[in-house]
Amino acid sequence: MSQITFLGAVGEVTGSRYLIETDSANLLLECGLHQGGAQAEERNRRSLADLARTVDGVIVSHGHLDHSGLIPRLVHDGFTGPIYCTTGTLELLQIMWRDAAQVMGRELEWENRWRDKAGKPLLEPVYLPEDVDQALEQCHAFSYGQAVDLCADARLVFRDAGHILGSAIVELNVQSGGRDRRLVFSGDLGNPRSVLMRDPDQPESADMVLLESTYGDRDHRPLEDTIEEFAQVLEEAHAEGGNVLIPAFAVGRTQEILYHLGTLRREGRLRQQHIFLDSPMAIEVTELYHRHRRSLEAEDVASSGWNSGQLAESILPGLQLSRTVDDSMAINRIHGGAIIIAGSGMCTGGRIRHHLKYNLGRRNCRIIIAGFQASGTLGRQLVDGAETVKLFGDTITVRASVHTLGGFSAHAGQSELLGWAGRFRTRPRVFLVHGEPEAQRQLQQAFKDQLEVDVSIPEPGQTEPL
Ligand SMILES: [Zn+2]
Repeated sequence: MSQITFLGAVGEVTGSRYLIETDSANLLLECGLHQGGAQAEERNRRSLADLARTVDGVIVSHGHLDHSGLIPRLVHDGFTGPIYCTTGTLELLQIMWRDAAQVMGRELEWENRWRDKAGKPLLEPVYLPEDVDQALEQCHAFSYGQAVDLCADARLVFRDAGHILGSAIVELNVQSGGRDRRLVFSGDLGNPRSVLMRDPDQPESADMVLLESTYGDRDHRPLEDTIEEFAQVLEEAHAEGGNVLIPAFAVGRTQEILYHLGTLRREGRLRQQHIFLDSPMAIEVTELYHRHRRSLEAEDVASSGWNSGQLAESILPGLQLSRTVDDSMAINRIHGGAIIIAGSGMCTGGRIRHHLKYNLGRRNCRIIIAGFQASGTLGRQLVDGAETVKLFGDTITVRASVHTLGGFSAHAGQSELLGWAGRFRTRPRVFLVHGEPEAQRQLQQAFKDQLEVDVSIPEPGQTEPL
């Protein structure tokens, strides 16, 4: 009998990890980074040597680090087998893993300097750049729809999840107790209304579905309303001469924001002259999206500047790409009226923290939160209306106004999750993963009320037969 064990992203939105054991192989479905606070960092440091020894192959749905970010750690701890992903995901991993190793290396250096002074034991890195190189060597990339034999009794197909470049729904056909069983993992399911991405594919049948539930408790506001609100905040900030800070994930959200800014510019509704993309990684990823524009939603690409020319000029005239630290610091010399897009998306690191330090205390400044903020992060504190926050050891009073724009989400909302999971021809057993407990409880109730279906919320470590 084949079985699955829920190891991570169980009752939370990061650290995605599921172990699938068949008669002939042990497959790890994802190995994601834990994000949000000191506890997450401690979990990222735990040895994966036991898993590395027993796992024969790793499958990853998409490049976001909460799904892929601990795979180099698994390699560091001895995993030598194949890593399966889509072609787009592999290109993203080349950027994201290298960046993650660098960022974690820098943070470790700071932490160890402090520990050294305090006479505390020094910490080891989670993984090194050479582990990333080795992990990339072990990657095997496939197109959507291509069937891949993983072992004697498991076959894999990736379907387009419409979430970010290369993102996939994972369809796994396995033998279990002499029967063919199909496991479908939603990965992160895209929001059909979001720009640049195609609609998520709809697999026809499944015996078991692992369904993400990030936004299981709500529907997003209509995109048109969100764009109006976005335009209005930009207009007000311009009128008051304040800066606009947009913390954005380098992958997906940044490109979407640039797309909308480009549209507003073409419509004559964007007055700001200084717009900075202040993140080397986001710049690199945006270039990658631009190169891969044929795999994006054709209509959106055709109706925007994404179709042609030089990156910055074609997608958003006037966009300035801040690659170096000097470029980034120069932004602070502009007094008011700039739009600054920088990572990290939840304000847990990256250049956005420097801009927040400069701007949070200014009443005419606007912070636009356009992505999910996990509990324990600085972004979440801002969304929750914190009056003061800690940045680089200082306590900063928040005078800037914080606007949360829900409609830009790259995740399906509750209705889309129900719609997608309700369209299987078969009646699969559904397990809710990748969501915080309250969102999951509400989605579970919605399944009961609207579809008359009982779905399960697994416990950490729970094992289920396939
Ligand atoms: Zn994702």
